[in-house]
Amino acid sequence: MFHNIISREILCKSALNKTGIPDYKYCINPYIGCTHACLYCYASFMCRFTGHQEKWGRFLDVKVNFSDILDKQLKSRIRPEGKVLLGSVTDAYQPAEAIHKITRSSLEILADYQLLEVHILTKSALVQRDIPILRQLRACEVGFTITTLDSNIARVIEPGASPPHLRLTAARELIKAGIPVWVFIAPMLPGVTDTEKSLVRLLHAVYECGIREILMDHLNPYPAVVQRLKSAYRRYFPEALPELEEYLCYPEIYQDKIEGRVQQIGKLVDCQPKFV
Ligand code: SF4
Repeated sequence: MFHNIISREILCKSALNKTGIPDYKYCINPYIGCTHACLYCYASFMCRFTGHQEKWGRFLDVKVNFSDILDKQLKSRIRPEGKVLLGSVTDAYQPAEAIHKITRSSLEILADYQLLEVHILTKSALVQRDIPILRQLRACEVGFTITTLDSNIARVIEPGASPPHLRLTAARELIKAGIPVWVFIAPMLPGVTDTEKSLVRLLHAVYECGIREILMDHLNPYPAVVQRLKSAYRRYFPEALPELEEYLCYPEIYQDKIEGRVQQIGKLVDCQPKFV
């Protein structure tokens, strides 16, 4: 984990925002930036909109008035309804949340109003801290993104996130508390996390944990993401570079191959993941 994070406290004007993400009406993001610093992060485009010069993963803006603004918005809007995604361009449970507790106070407000169904997507075991509040929400489900069970690979590709086994432990605790949990295996990194060995291990562990809803996705080759990945592959996974190149040249053929692999493994471990 990095120690030289530039953190600032800022004031926001809006907490509950409309989103175009399929299935969701609103999103809430208590922080700008994400110190999980995943190499494949698609949200790094946020730097362009917020004027940050720092590298993605090395800065964090903490919206200190977030829960007050959320409270005002829920009070004044004409009964917002539907699903809200907590953490569409940040992880609401990144390490700083243990100190600032902005996600936690926002959930308390959402629980008070009982208007919205809350869906959380995270790579952090910290979410289990809030189980008592999650149980008070009108409706809630939690998705854990897990790309690999190999903690050495995870440390390279998502250095600030909870180690994968801790995410599974948190998932178990949530399930025990009656909260629906699903897993998002994405993006699959060619030759690194989409190998048969890696997928068998991961799908087996997820199924053993009691999770039955498993969604998967391929890598979206945005230029900035490809650039970061190529440099990490050269340094950490040089043997997998040909597979990354193959994916980038022939994405559809490569995706068909992996989807066939997942289908076969699904039969072995008795689960049927869906591609989004
Ligand atoms: S946890 Fe999500 S938002 Fe945070 S860096 Fe990783 S992919 Fe990006």
